[in-house]
Order: sequence, then structure tokens, then C-alpha cells
Amino acid sequence: MHIINEDLILAEPIPFLSKNGVAVHVLRLDRADPVVSGNKWFKLRYHLERAKASRCDAVVTFGGAFSNHIVATAAACAALSITSIGIIRGEAPPTLSHSLQTAASFGMQLFFVSREAYRAKKIPPQLVSANNYFIPEGGYSEEGAAGAATIPYDKTQYNLIACAVGTGTMMAGLLNAKQESSAILGFSALKNYFNLDGEVRRLLKDKHEPVHINHSYHFGGYAKKTPALIHFMNEFYQQTGIPTDFVYTGKLFFGINDLIEKKHFASGTKILVIHSGGLQGNLSLRKGTLIF
Ligand SMILES: *Cc1c(COP(=O)(O)O)cnc(C)c1O
Repeated sequence: MHIINEDLILAEPIPFLSKNGVAVHVLRLDRADPVVSGNKWFKLRYHLERAKASRCDAVVTFGGAFSNHIVATAAACAALSITSIGIIRGEAPPTLSHSLQTAASFGMQLFFVSREAYRAKKIPPQLVSANNYFIPEGGYSEEGAAGAATIPYDKTQYNLIACAVGTGTMMAGLLNAKQESSAILGFSALKNYFNLDGEVRRLLKDKHEPVHINHSYHFGGYAKKTPALIHFMNEFYQQTGIPTDFVYTGKLFFGINDLIEKKHFASGTKILVIHSGGLQGNLSLRKGTLIF
């Protein structure tokens, strides 16, 4: 089952980041589909296969107003003719965020629940049905990690794979699929959320596998930004032609560039940076903030 074009997912060298003896390639998951961008299809694929096979009434999942997971689920379900329902954190706003407008345009029904009810994972009574297929928030699940393990790249080429971390599902999948000789380095998009390491480990096949997450490039926290981050994203685009998002991949590329400049990696290291997409999230920025 496929709705994205995996042929568009290629690794390209980035001369801008390749310095101090380190060679950097970027895996362009962002190019696979304009809406179901980046890692989200991989995390959803086995859930949606099971949902389709189970002939469920609807796929139900959870997210905030700016969630890439909500948008991707809505678009993927539309492509597969599956009814989709989003349980959205917080009261309904007077105008929907860009992400929620996009999700609604793909036919997703939105149910707004109070932050308290959301935190308690309370499902609105009318959605409690054995015939609904529930996908956890952000796709955090073994199925999600199994899907992320199918992110395609040449396993023999790199010493280090770098990726952004939200729920940790993608990182767990990459760890489960990696070769012995390479390591995975995650960059957390959350501020001082040190439970993340354990949450990644919970999805690992080998629970003793070390989990390396850098917690230093959150820029104030999840979906927070600083002028330095925005400046870097614009410069990175100018130098490479690669757009990034301000929630995940902008912070990831900033972190990798900073660590390479500080000679954190040994000369000769070959790094693959996973561009996990998420560009639709930039629509929530004021016009003119980014040059792309
Ligand atoms: C969702 C998302 C992530 C985080 O993936 P997890 O599997 O939740 O860690 C990273 N990058 C982008 C662009 C995303 O949309």
C-alpha cells in the first residue's frame, strides 16, 4: 500500500554542512508528498493497512492545532477512502489554524476537547466504538516504529544518522533498522523532556541499545522559535535550496551545523541527516518571516 512516491526520496550531499572533515548528506523525505510530508507516512503505513483490512468505520487520532500528524492522517485517509476523525486538544478556536483547515479540507471530522480531557485521554462518548481504529497521538506505537524502520536509505554508507525527535517513534524505527556499525543521534524538539530517551527505548527491539538524544537545540521549547533559528533557516535555504520547518528540521540542521563547527564529530565521519518534512507547519508563521 503506497500513497507517496518513494522514488523521490534521495540522499543528496550538502557542501554547506560538510566541513572540518565531516561529510553530510540529507535524505529528502520532505519531497515524497506535498501534504503527507516527511516521516508521517512511514509512521502511519501499517496502522492504515490494518485499519483498511479491519473495515473500520473510521480512523481516530489525536493532536494539537498545529499537528503534522493530524494533517498527514487526514490526507492519507482521504487517499485511501477511509473516514478520519481528529480529537483536537483545546476548545474550538474562532478561526481554525492552517493545519486544521487542511485536515478539514481532506474530510477529517474535528472534535475539540478541553486540555484536561485531552490529557486524561478521554474519548468523546460518541466516538467510543469497537469499529473505530485508534492511532495514538503522534503515531507513537510499535506499528509506527515498524513503519519508520522502512524509511529507505543506503545502510552501508553512513557512520551516523541524525534525526529530529518528537514522540521518538521515528528514532526508534531508525534504531531498529540500523546496521551495527552506525549510530543514530536524535535532536529533541522539546525543552528538557528527558523522559524521551526512555520513550524511545520502550519501542526498541533490543532494549539495551544505547539511545543518544541531544537536548540542547530546543530554542525555548516545542514550536518555540528565536531570531537566531529563523536567521539560520533562511541562510540554510539560501545556501542549499533546502526548506526546513521551524518545529523540527530547522532545529535539527542548526544543531548538526553547530556541532560540526565545534568539531564535535571526528574527521572522516559520514552523516546522513533525515529531513523529516513538516513544512506545512511554517504556514502558521507571519508572512515574510521565511524567504521560502
Ligand atoms: C512528527 C515529526 C517529527 C517527529 O517524529 P517522532 O516520530 O514523533 O519523533 C520530526 N520531524 C517532523 C518534520 C515531524 O513532522
